[in-house]
Amino acid sequence: MVGSLVLLAVLVALLAGLAAGKAWERYKLREGRWIDRRKARESPHYILGLNFLVSNQLDLAIEELTTAAGIDADALEIHLILGNLYREKGQVTRAIRMHQQLLRRPKLTKLEHAYIQLCLALDFRRGGFVDRALDAFTEVLRFDADNTYALLNLEKLHEEQHQWEEAHAIRRRLAALADPGQEQKHKAILAFLETQLGQQSLQREEHAAAVARFESAVDLDARAIPAYVSLGDVRRKEGRVDEAIAAWERLIAIAPERAYLVFDRVEAVSREQGDAERFPALCRQLITANPVDWRARLALGRHLAREGRPSEALDLLFDSLVHNPHAMEIHQVVWRALAAVTFDAARVRRYMELTREAVFYLDPHVCMRCRYRSTELLWQCPQCHEWNTFVEERITAAEEGEDDDA
Ligand SMILES: [Zn+2]
Repeated sequence: MVGSLVLLAVLVALLAGLAAGKAWERYKLREGRWIDRRKARESPHYILGLNFLVSNQLDLAIEELTTAAGIDADALEIHLILGNLYREKGQVTRAIRMHQQLLRRPKLTKLEHAYIQLCLALDFRRGGFVDRALDAFTEVLRFDADNTYALLNLEKLHEEQHQWEEAHAIRRRLAALADPGQEQKHKAILAFLETQLGQQSLQREEHAAAVARFESAVDLDARAIPAYVSLGDVRRKEGRVDEAIAAWERLIAIAPERAYLVFDRVEAVSREQGDAERFPALCRQLITANPVDWRARLALGRHLAREGRPSEALDLLFDSLVHNPHAMEIHQVVWRALAAVTFDAARVRRYMELTREAVFYLDPHVCMRCRYRSTELLWQCPQCHEWNTFVEERITAAEEGEDDDA
């Protein structure tokens, strides 16, 4: 689906571009005769081919467009489209050959050259020829410096290879080209890239550089959640524990629904500092602010169970189950706590009532773009490489139908 949308976008851009440019001259002198170049485009085969294309019937589209191309062997756009269709069908070598042949045509305009090169680059990317794809997209930019489609593809290629610096430079170019209304979207992506760069600095033990990156991420986008997590991590490594806590508390204030990402950290640091109250107080505050927060209940329940208070823990864990009966991680803590109260009969009965309808599962995070599933929250999808597309998939809670916080 995504693939065919991309293909359509290329086609529309291509047709609009060729029509707008002077590429398509109506008449052409060939072998001493003027030929009406509209012939191929006005033939029923061309129109039929495009219709099959729109309804995603690639084989029929290829058949009709091949006939249309036969009417005028010079019809550049039809050959380009045919090459793209072969690529979509997975016949990458054939697509590459067709597009390379088009590139060898004499007297191509700059625009035509850029579009053929773009199609070729897409062939290379599809075929997994990363270096050749990088070269080809870069070549497109030589002819058409503001080609956002080539820039987007280059950015993704760099991201796939964890070349965050290069991806960041390209995203800055895209941001500069975008409408003012799109500014925040670009800033949010730049913030994710800054965070990745910060994490690379952190791996090299360059703390100051890492902090600068994380702070820049937060300046770009106040909701750059992973930047707060990592900022706290650097501060903690440096022994600046109060600053670590401050970074995590900023995350909690800005996105309380993501507070669970730093629960373990806040709990551990508080324990090290001998502050027994901070973590339970945080959980209670989150529960009060959001009565359906099952994660804060789970965290507090786990905390109390560790403190040797399994009865209080079970009350919270059962409350947590009411809001999300399917979450495996709650059940695991419940089992341990039930063992700690030596399987008190009344509590076991309550637990069985709560779980009668439950389906345990571990993979609640789903990419909204490509449906990739993950057991943990990811900021970039490993399949479609889009940023911040994961939502939690929730089976409706057993007792309350509408508390879906996904
Ligand atoms: Zn995805």
